Amino acid sequence: SAPVITIDGPSGAGKGTITQLVAKKLGWTLLDSGALYRLTALAAETAGVALEDEQRLSELALSLDVEFVPGDYGEPVNVLLNGNDVTRDIRTETCGNNASKVAPLPSVRAALLQRQRDFQQFPGLVADGRDMGTVVFPDAAIKVFMTASAEERAERRYRQLKDKGEDVKIATLLSEIRERDARDTGRATAPLKPADDAVMLDTTGLGIEEVLAQVLKLVEE
Ligand code: C5P
Repeated sequence: SAPVITIDGPSGAGKGTITQLVAKKLGWTLLDSGALYRLTALAAETAGVALEDEQRLSELALSLDVEFVPGDYGEPVNVLLNGNDVTRDIRTETCGNNASKVAPLPSVRAALLQRQRDFQQFPGLVADGRDMGTVVFPDAAIKVFMTASAEERAERRYRQLKDKGEDVKIATLLSEIRERDARDTGRATAPLKPADDAVMLDTTGLGIEEVLAQVLKLVEE
């Protein structure tokens, strides 16, 4: 089967950016698994389904009509839900937080499992998430667990949002990051943790180019 690189870690560690760059560099397919959880949360909001309604949420997850359209260089992948461009809608803090509320539900995760595995295709796949190396692609050739201090992740997020002209407080972002970390690591189903064979990569204080170089070095070895 086609080779897989998994890049897992907490929110804001830089996985998304690095995953895109690695996929681009290698000419491989990309899976942004977090987008599927975000889309499930967004679809629930649109359909008026409560974030605790596991039965209906898993039906939504199973039937998501999603299309990922690759963007130009440096641009995010465009995401279509039922043919509508929701690229920006799924990136809000609220949607991320809602995603982390539907993510602990076992039948939602089960509903998204095969959809994620279907991304494994030649010449290869770079998959970004929380459980790529532990659950979805346990046989992946290369597994990276990317971290950064909560303070640095809040700082990076702050700069991103500021660039977009959004007015947020760094202290609010930091407490949201801590809450999300606690939900992601504390849940019973597929908790956020490094796979036994993952390479740990702490990106605190590192720039994008340095992190990219370290991941590509693993690929060359
Ligand atoms: O990575 P991203 O911030 O887009 O993920 C949103 C939320 O979806 C995470 O906080 C996490 O709760 C959930 N998620 C997950 N498993 C994944 C990817 C994301 O549980 N593989």
